[in-house]
Amino acid sequence: MDSITHLIWHDGKLFGIEWSFWKAIGWCGNAVFSSRFIVQWYATEKKKQVVVPTSFWWLSLVGSLLLLIYGLRQKDSVFIFAYAFTWIPYIRNLMIQHKNHKAKRLCGNCDTISPASANFCSKCGTNVSGPSQKPELA
Ligand SMILES: [Zn+2]
Repeated sequence: MDSITHLIWHDGKLFGIEWSFWKAIGWCGNAVFSSRFIVQWYATEKKKQVVVPTSFWWLSLVGSLLLLIYGLRQKDSVFIFAYAFTWIPYIRNLMIQHKNHKAKRLCGNCDTISPASANFCSKCGTNVSGPSQKPELA
């Protein structure tokens, strides 16, 4: 028990780490960036198919920016290069997901939401590709 306490806290260090404000920023970045894997895995297991939820890209963006800030502060070229450009695909993926979400098609017959690429409602088969999504009533 005493050795566990020693492992957690000794010589004024938590987990043997010399803490500072910037170290906390870096570890926050690590925590946020790592959590995206759990979020993605959970979403995939839940649907039993490979899913990349929007939160995955947000966690990627925030985590990598925190790690980039830490790398810049530390003047560590390895960290800086690792996270200098990753935000580009993260932001692009968020933009595309947002656009796709907005473009989803609502079936006028049964109110089921279909993806933007769908021509027919997945539930009732009504044509949802036309300019008028409401079925004509004779
Ligand atoms: Zn429908």
